Amino acid sequence: MVKNEIWNAVSNASVIAIGGHVNPDGDCIGSCLSMYNYIKKVYPDKKVTVYLENIPEVFKYMTGSDMVATDYVSNDPDLFISLDCSDKERLGQAEQIFDHTPSTINIDHHISNLCFALINHYVAESSATCEVLYELYEPELIDKDIAECLYTGIIHDTGVFKYSNTSCRTMEIAGRLMSKGIDHTSIIENTFYEKSYSANRFLGKCLLESRLLYDDRVILCVATREVFDSCGATKEDTDGIVSVLLQTKGVEVSVFVYERGENEYKASLRASKDADMSKVALVFGGGGHKKAAGCTLRGELDKELSKLLKEVGIALL
Ligand code: 5GP
Ligand code: MN
Repeated sequence: MVKNEIWNAVSNASVIAIGGHVNPDGDCIGSCLSMYNYIKKVYPDKKVTVYLENIPEVFKYMTGSDMVATDYVSNDPDLFISLDCSDKERLGQAEQIFDHTPSTINIDHHISNLCFALINHYVAESSATCEVLYELYEPELIDKDIAECLYTGIIHDTGVFKYSNTSCRTMEIAGRLMSKGIDHTSIIENTFYEKSYSANRFLGKCLLESRLLYDDRVILCVATREVFDSCGATKEDTDGIVSVLLQTKGVEVSVFVYERGENEYKASLRASKDADMSKVALVFGGGGHKKAAGCTLRGELDKELSKLLKEVGIALL
Protein backbone atom coordinates (compact mmCIF):
# COMPACT_ATOMS: atom_id res chain seq x y z
CA MET A 1 0.00 0.00 0.00
CA VAL A 2 1.32 3.40 -0.98
CA LYS A 3 0.53 4.83 2.48
CA ASN A 4 2.89 2.32 4.08
CA GLU A 5 5.54 2.96 1.44
CA ILE A 6 5.38 6.68 2.18
CA TRP A 7 5.69 6.32 5.96
CA ASN A 8 8.41 3.66 5.64
CA ALA A 9 10.43 6.07 3.49
CA VAL A 10 9.91 8.85 6.04
CA SER A 11 10.81 6.57 8.93
CA ASN A 12 14.03 5.43 7.17
CA ALA A 13 15.20 8.96 6.39
CA SER A 14 17.11 11.17 8.80
CA VAL A 15 17.34 14.35 6.71
CA ILE A 16 14.17 15.30 4.84
CA ALA A 17 13.45 18.06 2.33
CA ILE A 18 9.91 19.19 1.56
CA GLY A 19 9.16 21.25 -1.55
CA GLY A 20 6.12 22.75 -3.25
CA HIS A 21 5.49 24.60 -6.49
CA VAL A 22 6.76 27.99 -7.56
CA ASN A 23 4.49 30.91 -6.71
CA PRO A 24 3.06 28.87 -3.81
CA ASP A 25 -0.66 29.16 -3.02
CA GLY A 26 -2.67 28.25 0.08
CA ASP A 27 -2.80 24.54 -0.72
CA CYS A 28 0.91 24.35 -1.50
CA ILE A 29 1.98 26.22 1.65
CA GLY A 30 -0.58 24.41 3.83
CA SER A 31 0.57 21.04 2.47
CA CYS A 32 4.27 21.70 3.02
CA LEU A 33 3.85 23.13 6.52
CA SER A 34 1.38 20.43 7.62
CA MET A 35 3.91 17.79 6.55
CA TYR A 36 6.71 19.66 8.32
CA ASN A 37 4.69 19.90 11.56
CA TYR A 38 3.49 16.30 11.32
CA ILE A 39 6.96 14.81 10.81
CA LYS A 40 8.41 17.02 13.57
CA LYS A 41 5.66 15.79 15.88
CA VAL A 42 6.07 12.09 15.11
CA TYR A 43 9.88 12.17 14.69
CA PRO A 44 11.26 15.15 16.64
CA ASP A 45 14.86 14.11 15.91
CA LYS A 46 14.65 14.19 12.13
CA LYS A 47 16.11 17.18 10.34
CA VAL A 48 13.36 18.62 8.15
CA THR A 49 13.63 21.63 5.81
CA VAL A 50 10.82 23.17 3.78
CA TYR A 51 11.86 24.80 0.48
CA LEU A 52 9.47 27.39 -0.95
CA GLU A 53 9.95 30.52 -3.04
CA ASN A 54 8.18 32.83 -0.61
CA ILE A 55 5.35 32.88 1.92
CA PRO A 56 2.89 35.78 1.49
CA GLU A 57 2.38 37.71 4.77
CA VAL A 58 -1.24 36.50 5.15
CA PHE A 59 -0.06 32.89 5.51
CA LYS A 60 2.50 33.54 8.22
CA TYR A 61 0.16 32.42 11.04
CA MET A 62 0.94 28.83 10.06
CA THR A 63 3.43 27.16 12.39
CA GLY A 64 6.75 26.57 10.65
CA SER A 65 6.31 29.43 8.16
CA ASP A 66 9.29 31.21 9.77
CA MET A 67 11.47 28.11 9.17
CA VAL A 68 11.03 27.99 5.39
CA ALA A 69 14.30 28.02 3.41
CA THR A 70 13.68 30.53 0.63
CA ASP A 71 17.43 30.51 -0.17
CA TYR A 72 17.36 26.91 -1.47
CA VAL A 73 20.62 25.99 0.24
CA SER A 74 20.48 22.18 0.24
CA ASN A 75 20.37 20.29 3.54
CA ASP A 76 21.66 17.21 1.62
CA PRO A 77 18.52 15.21 2.28
CA ASP A 78 18.11 11.47 1.94
CA LEU A 79 14.40 11.93 1.24
CA PHE A 80 12.62 14.60 -0.79
CA ILE A 81 8.83 15.02 -0.49
CA SER A 82 7.26 17.00 -3.34
CA LEU A 83 3.79 18.36 -2.54
CA ASP A 84 1.11 19.86 -4.83
CA CYS A 85 3.42 19.70 -7.90
CA SER A 86 2.28 18.02 -11.09
CA ASP A 87 5.76 17.96 -12.61
CA LYS A 88 9.35 18.21 -11.37
CA GLU A 89 10.00 21.58 -13.02
CA ARG A 90 7.23 23.10 -10.89
CA LEU A 91 9.58 22.72 -7.91
CA GLY A 92 11.56 25.68 -9.28
CA GLN A 93 14.96 25.99 -7.62
CA ALA A 94 14.21 22.96 -5.41
CA GLU A 95 14.32 20.74 -8.50
CA GLN A 96 18.11 20.59 -8.19
CA ILE A 97 17.85 19.36 -4.60
CA PHE A 98 15.22 16.80 -5.70
CA ASP A 99 17.55 15.53 -8.45
CA HIS A 100 20.33 14.91 -5.93
CA THR A 101 18.15 13.06 -3.42
CA PRO A 102 18.20 9.24 -3.45
CA SER A 103 14.65 8.69 -2.20
CA THR A 104 11.71 10.76 -3.50
CA ILE A 105 7.97 11.02 -2.85
CA ASN A 106 5.38 12.91 -4.94
CA ILE A 107 2.00 13.62 -3.31
CA ASP A 108 -0.50 15.63 -5.33
CA HIS A 109 -4.04 16.00 -6.69
CA HIS A 110 -3.47 17.32 -10.23
CA ILE A 111 -4.89 15.18 -13.02
CA SER A 112 -1.84 16.17 -15.11
CA ASN A 113 0.64 14.67 -12.58
CA LEU A 114 3.62 13.08 -14.32
CA CYS A 115 4.58 10.56 -11.56
CA PHE A 116 8.17 11.83 -11.49
CA ALA A 117 9.27 10.41 -8.11
CA LEU A 118 10.11 6.92 -6.81
CA ILE A 119 6.90 6.84 -4.76
CA ASN A 120 3.95 8.58 -6.43
CA HIS A 121 0.57 9.20 -4.84
CA TYR A 122 -1.83 11.52 -6.59
CA VAL A 123 -5.57 11.54 -6.11
CA ALA A 124 -7.23 13.57 -8.86
CA GLU A 125 -10.63 13.37 -7.11
CA SER A 126 -9.29 15.14 -4.03
CA SER A 127 -10.12 18.82 -3.71
CA ALA A 128 -6.63 19.71 -2.48
CA THR A 129 -3.27 18.17 -1.72
CA CYS A 130 -4.16 18.97 1.90
CA GLU A 131 -7.14 16.62 1.57
CA VAL A 132 -4.84 13.87 0.23
CA LEU A 133 -2.51 14.46 3.20
CA TYR A 134 -5.34 14.30 5.76
CA GLU A 135 -6.01 10.74 4.58
CA LEU A 136 -2.33 9.87 5.10
CA TYR A 137 -2.06 11.25 8.63
CA GLU A 138 -3.25 9.52 11.81
CA PRO A 139 -6.34 11.56 12.83
CA GLU A 140 -5.41 11.60 16.53
CA LEU A 141 -1.95 13.00 15.74
CA ILE A 142 -3.40 16.01 13.93
CA ASP A 143 -3.11 18.91 16.38
CA LYS A 144 -4.34 22.48 16.05
CA ASP A 145 -1.19 23.63 14.16
CA ILE A 146 -1.47 20.83 11.59
CA ALA A 147 -5.25 21.35 11.32
CA GLU A 148 -4.73 25.07 10.55
CA CYS A 149 -2.41 24.21 7.66
CA LEU A 150 -4.72 21.53 6.20
CA TYR A 151 -7.84 23.68 6.54
CA THR A 152 -6.10 26.58 4.80
CA GLY A 153 -5.19 24.39 1.83
CA ILE A 154 -8.70 23.01 1.50
CA ILE A 155 -10.48 26.38 1.60
CA HIS A 156 -8.09 27.83 -0.99
CA ASP A 157 -8.38 25.03 -3.52
CA THR A 158 -12.17 24.76 -3.13
CA GLY A 159 -12.85 28.52 -3.18
CA VAL A 160 -14.23 28.10 0.37
CA PHE A 161 -16.14 24.90 -0.48
CA LYS A 162 -17.68 26.35 -3.64
CA TYR A 163 -15.93 24.61 -6.55
CA SER A 164 -17.15 21.29 -7.91
CA ASN A 165 -14.08 19.53 -6.49
CA THR A 166 -15.73 19.87 -3.03
CA SER A 167 -17.05 16.46 -2.00
CA CYS A 168 -18.94 15.16 1.03
CA ARG A 169 -15.59 13.84 2.22
CA THR A 170 -14.05 17.32 1.85
CA MET A 171 -16.75 18.73 4.16
CA GLU A 172 -16.32 15.85 6.61
CA ILE A 173 -12.57 16.46 6.79
CA ALA A 174 -13.10 20.22 7.19
CA GLY A 175 -15.47 19.49 10.09
CA ARG A 176 -12.91 17.24 11.78
CA LEU A 177 -10.26 19.93 11.35
CA MET A 178 -12.62 22.49 12.93
CA SER A 179 -12.97 20.21 15.94
CA LYS A 180 -9.21 20.68 16.56
CA GLY A 181 -9.95 24.22 17.73
CA ILE A 182 -8.89 26.28 14.71
CA ASP A 183 -10.26 29.79 14.13
CA HIS A 184 -11.88 28.94 10.80
CA THR A 185 -13.59 32.34 10.40
CA SER A 186 -10.32 34.25 10.66
CA ILE A 187 -8.50 31.85 8.32
CA ILE A 188 -11.20 32.30 5.65
CA GLU A 189 -11.57 36.05 6.08
CA ASN A 190 -7.88 36.95 6.39
CA THR A 191 -6.46 34.68 3.71
CA PHE A 192 -9.25 34.34 1.17
CA TYR A 193 -11.61 37.32 1.17
CA GLU A 194 -9.67 40.28 2.55
CA LYS A 195 -7.92 42.26 -0.20
CA SER A 196 -5.59 45.22 0.01
CA TYR A 197 -6.79 48.52 -1.42
CA SER A 198 -4.39 48.17 -4.36
CA ALA A 199 -5.65 44.63 -5.06
CA ASN A 200 -9.26 45.83 -5.15
CA ARG A 201 -8.37 48.72 -7.45
CA PHE A 202 -6.44 46.32 -9.68
CA LEU A 203 -9.46 43.98 -9.83
CA GLY A 204 -11.64 46.91 -10.86
CA LYS A 205 -9.19 47.90 -13.56
CA CYS A 206 -9.00 44.30 -14.84
CA LEU A 207 -12.80 44.07 -15.05
CA LEU A 208 -12.85 47.30 -17.07
CA GLU A 209 -10.14 45.95 -19.39
CA SER A 210 -11.92 42.62 -19.94
CA ARG A 211 -13.37 41.54 -23.29
CA LEU A 212 -15.98 38.94 -24.26
CA LEU A 213 -15.10 36.49 -27.04
CA TYR A 214 -16.57 33.42 -28.75
CA ASP A 215 -20.20 34.61 -28.65
CA ASP A 216 -19.72 35.82 -25.07
CA ARG A 217 -18.80 32.33 -23.84
CA VAL A 218 -15.23 33.40 -22.99
CA ILE A 219 -14.00 36.37 -21.00
CA LEU A 220 -10.43 37.59 -21.39
CA CYS A 221 -8.39 40.09 -19.45
CA VAL A 222 -4.76 40.95 -20.18
CA ALA A 223 -2.96 42.93 -17.48
CA THR A 224 0.15 44.55 -18.89
CA ARG A 225 2.82 46.30 -16.80
CA GLU A 226 0.94 49.58 -17.35
CA VAL A 227 -2.25 48.14 -15.79
CA PHE A 228 -0.27 47.11 -12.70
CA ASP A 229 1.49 50.45 -12.46
CA SER A 230 -1.72 52.47 -12.82
CA CYS A 231 -2.93 51.16 -9.43
CA GLY A 232 0.36 50.33 -7.69
CA ALA A 233 -0.44 46.61 -7.90
CA THR A 234 1.99 43.70 -7.60
CA LYS A 235 1.91 40.00 -8.51
CA GLU A 236 0.25 39.17 -5.15
CA ASP A 237 -2.73 41.30 -6.21
CA THR A 238 -3.52 38.96 -9.14
CA ASP A 239 -4.96 36.28 -6.84
CA GLY A 240 -8.61 35.45 -7.46
CA ILE A 241 -9.14 37.73 -10.46
CA VAL A 242 -9.67 34.84 -12.87
CA SER A 243 -12.43 33.50 -10.58
CA VAL A 244 -14.23 36.84 -10.45
CA LEU A 245 -14.11 37.01 -14.26
CA LEU A 246 -15.77 33.57 -14.42
CA GLN A 247 -18.71 34.86 -12.33
CA THR A 248 -19.90 36.78 -15.41
CA LYS A 249 -23.33 35.50 -16.46
CA GLY A 250 -23.21 33.26 -19.54
CA VAL A 251 -19.44 32.90 -19.48
CA GLU A 252 -18.02 29.35 -19.61
CA VAL A 253 -14.30 30.09 -19.63
CA SER A 254 -12.26 32.91 -18.11
CA VAL A 255 -8.72 33.70 -19.16
CA PHE A 256 -6.52 36.01 -17.14
CA VAL A 257 -3.08 36.85 -18.51
CA TYR A 258 -0.58 39.09 -16.78
CA GLU A 259 2.87 40.34 -17.69
CA ARG A 260 5.51 38.71 -15.52
CA GLY A 261 8.71 39.74 -17.27
CA GLU A 262 10.31 40.49 -20.62
CA ASN A 263 8.20 38.58 -23.16
CA GLU A 264 6.89 36.38 -20.34
CA TYR A 265 3.22 36.15 -19.38
CA LYS A 266 1.39 34.03 -16.84
CA ALA A 267 -1.99 32.67 -17.95
CA SER A 268 -4.72 31.41 -15.61
CA LEU A 269 -7.67 29.49 -17.01
CA ARG A 270 -10.99 28.62 -15.40
CA ALA A 271 -14.05 26.78 -16.73
CA SER A 272 -17.55 26.54 -15.32
CA LYS A 273 -18.80 23.80 -17.66
CA ASP A 274 -17.12 20.97 -19.59
CA ALA A 275 -14.26 22.68 -21.44
CA ASP A 276 -11.00 21.06 -20.26
CA MET A 277 -8.53 23.74 -19.17
CA SER A 278 -5.73 21.32 -18.22
CA LYS A 279 -5.54 20.27 -21.90
CA VAL A 280 -5.19 23.90 -22.98
CA ALA A 281 -2.48 24.56 -20.38
CA LEU A 282 -0.56 21.41 -21.34
CA VAL A 283 -0.14 22.72 -24.90
CA PHE A 284 1.94 25.53 -23.39
CA GLY A 285 3.87 23.31 -20.98
CA GLY A 286 1.59 24.09 -18.03
CA GLY A 287 -0.97 21.95 -16.25
CA GLY A 288 -3.63 21.81 -13.59
CA HIS A 289 -7.17 20.49 -13.38
CA LYS A 290 -10.10 20.34 -15.82
CA LYS A 291 -11.69 23.45 -14.38
CA ALA A 292 -8.60 25.34 -13.19
CA ALA A 293 -5.26 25.35 -14.96
CA GLY A 294 -2.35 27.62 -15.76
CA CYS A 295 0.72 28.04 -17.90
CA THR A 296 3.43 30.48 -18.91
CA LEU A 297 3.42 32.15 -22.32
CA ARG A 298 6.84 33.05 -23.70
CA GLY A 299 7.30 35.29 -26.73
CA GLU A 300 5.42 38.10 -28.37
CA LEU A 301 2.12 38.73 -26.57
CA ASP A 302 -0.20 39.05 -29.60
CA LYS A 303 1.11 35.86 -31.18
CA GLU A 304 1.03 33.79 -27.97
CA LEU A 305 -2.38 35.12 -27.02
CA SER A 306 -3.95 34.17 -30.33
CA LYS A 307 -2.45 30.67 -30.00
CA LEU A 308 -3.91 30.39 -26.50
CA LEU A 309 -7.34 31.63 -27.56
CA LYS A 310 -7.35 29.18 -30.45
CA GLU A 311 -6.81 26.31 -27.99
CA VAL A 312 -9.55 27.70 -25.74
CA GLY A 313 -11.86 27.71 -28.78
CA ILE A 314 -11.06 24.04 -29.44
CA ALA A 315 -11.76 23.21 -25.79
CA LEU A 316 -15.18 24.89 -26.07
CA LEU A 317 -16.35 22.55 -28.85
P1 5GP B 1 -3.46 29.30 -11.20
O1 5GP B 1 -4.15 29.72 -12.43
O2 5GP B 1 -4.24 29.65 -9.96
O3 5GP B 1 -2.03 29.72 -11.13
O4 5GP B 1 -3.40 27.72 -11.23
C1 5GP B 1 -4.51 26.91 -11.45
C2 5GP B 1 -4.08 25.46 -11.36
O5 5GP B 1 -3.20 25.16 -12.42
C3 5GP B 1 -3.34 25.11 -10.08
O6 5GP B 1 -3.73 23.83 -9.71
C4 5GP B 1 -1.89 25.14 -10.48
O7 5GP B 1 -1.12 24.27 -9.73
C5 5GP B 1 -1.91 24.77 -11.94
N1 5GP B 1 -0.90 25.53 -12.68
C6 5GP B 1 -0.82 26.87 -12.83
N2 5GP B 1 0.23 27.24 -13.58
C7 5GP B 1 0.88 26.09 -13.91
C8 5GP B 1 2.07 25.79 -14.65
O8 5GP B 1 2.75 26.66 -15.20
N3 5GP B 1 2.39 24.46 -14.75
C9 5GP B 1 1.65 23.47 -14.19
N4 5GP B 1 2.05 22.20 -14.33
N5 5GP B 1 0.54 23.72 -13.48
C10 5GP B 1 0.14 25.00 -13.33
MN1 MN C 1 -3.53 22.23 -4.89
